[in-house]
Amino acid sequence: MALMPIDDALALLLRDVSPLAAETADLAPSSGRVLAQALVSPKAFPFEDNSAMDGYALAASEGPWRLVGESAAGHPFEGRVAEGEAVRISTGAVVPQGADSVLIQENAERHGSDLRAMQTPRAGQHIRHAGSDLNCGDALLDAGHILQAADLAALAGLGITHVPLRRQPKVIIFATGDELVAPGEPRQRGQIYESNARYLSAAVSEAGAELLSASTLPDDRSVIDAALKDAIESADLLLLSGGVSVGDHDHVGAALAELCGGLTFYKVRMKPGKPVAAARKGGCVLLGLPGNPASTLVAFEIFGRAVLKRLGGAGRVHRRLDEAVVLTSLPAAGSRGELLRASLTPAGLQPCSRQGSGDLSSLLTVDALIYRPPGSTPITAGDRVPYLALFGPGSEHPLEAQWTVKI
Ligand code: AMP
Ligand code: MG
Repeated sequence: MALMPIDDALALLLRDVSPLAAETADLAPSSGRVLAQALVSPKAFPFEDNSAMDGYALAASEGPWRLVGESAAGHPFEGRVAEGEAVRISTGAVVPQGADSVLIQENAERHGSDLRAMQTPRAGQHIRHAGSDLNCGDALLDAGHILQAADLAALAGLGITHVPLRRQPKVIIFATGDELVAPGEPRQRGQIYESNARYLSAAVSEAGAELLSASTLPDDRSVIDAALKDAIESADLLLLSGGVSVGDHDHVGAALAELCGGLTFYKVRMKPGKPVAAARKGGCVLLGLPGNPASTLVAFEIFGRAVLKRLGGAGRVHRRLDEAVVLTSLPAAGSRGELLRASLTPAGLQPCSRQGSGDLSSLLTVDALIYRPPGSTPITAGDRVPYLALFGPGSEHPLEAQWTVKI
C-alpha cells in the first residue's frame, strides 16, 4: 500500500466519527469538558446597581450630606436617599434608591453624621450598573468550547448550576510486546519497562477522555484477538501500541483488519509514526500505534487525539500550527513529512538533540513538533519554521491544511 499523506489519513479516520451524545451535568466538576450547546446568559449582570468601592452613596452635588444609614454587602439599605443625605456603603452593596454616585472613603471627610467631599462627586462614579456587564440573552460560550476554570467562575456567577456537555469518550489502551515489563517489576535481560501505556493514559486524560483500562498484551495473535473483541464492546476508542509493523511477531495490523473487515488506512507519509493502522468496528475506532515511544507520541498526537476531540465534540480537533525561529540548522527532509521533537523557548524552537524514535531523552523536553513537509530543503538557524504546539487551544484544520493556508 502506498504511504498516505497525513491529512488524507485524518480525513478518512474522522469521516464517520461524530460527537457523542449530550448530557446535562453538574457545573462544579466540569472543567475540561466540552459544551454540547451554546450558552446564553440567563440573567442581566450585575443584578442590581452596586458599589465598586467602599465609601458613601449619595446624589451627586457639592455637598455637604447627612449620614442616614448603611448599605452593606448582602444587607441593602431599603429606604430612599433624599437630596443632602448619604448612606455608608461597602464594595458590592446595593446602591440605594435616590443615590446616583459613590464618594470613595479616601475623598470623604466625616464628623459624626456630617459628611463633606474633598473632591466633588460625579453622577455615576464608582457604580457598577445593573446589566452593564451582561444582558439577559447575551451569548456566553459556543458549542464545542472546552470549559476552563475561568468559565466556571462566570457561569457560577450567573447562578448556573448545570451545563449541557458531551459525553466523554471511553478509551481502552493495550501496550503489546513480549519484551514489556511494568516499571517496578524485576527486569530480565532483554526486557524493557513499559512506557507507552503510561504516556497514552495521561495523554488521553489530557484530551478530555475517560480511561477505562490500560494493560499489556503479549505478541500472541489469539490473546490479542480475544482482548480486542472484548474491548470494542465498551470503548469508543481502542489504542494499541507496538506490533503494528511487518516483523514476524507483529500481529496488530492483521488482528485489526480481520476483526473490522479491513483497515481505514495503514502506513502514513510521516516520520516518525509511519506504521499506523486504523480501523473501525461499530461505534469503536481502533488505532494501532507504532511501539517506539516517540512514534507512539507523534502518532497519538496526530490521530488519537483528533479522534478523541471529535468524539468529545470539541470545535478545535487538531493541534495548532504556528511559526517560530529555529535555533539550529536542519538538514533536508526526506519523502515523508517529518515531525521533529523540539522545545519552545523564548528565543525560538530548540530541536531535541536526539531524534531517534526509540530515545527517551527527548520526551523530557518536547512541547512542540517542528513540521518539515515532504521534500523540505535544508533550513538555517534563525529561519522560521512551522511547528505544532503540544499545548494551547488547537485548530479546526488538520496539519497539512494549516500549512497550506500559511504559505
Ligand atoms: P514494535 O512497534 O512492536 O516493533 O516496537 C518498536 C520498538 O518499540 C521496540 O524497540 C519495542 O521494544 C518498543 N516498544 C514497544 N512497545 C513499547 C512500550 N509499550 N513501551 C516502551 N517501548 C515499547
Ligand atoms: Mg513489538
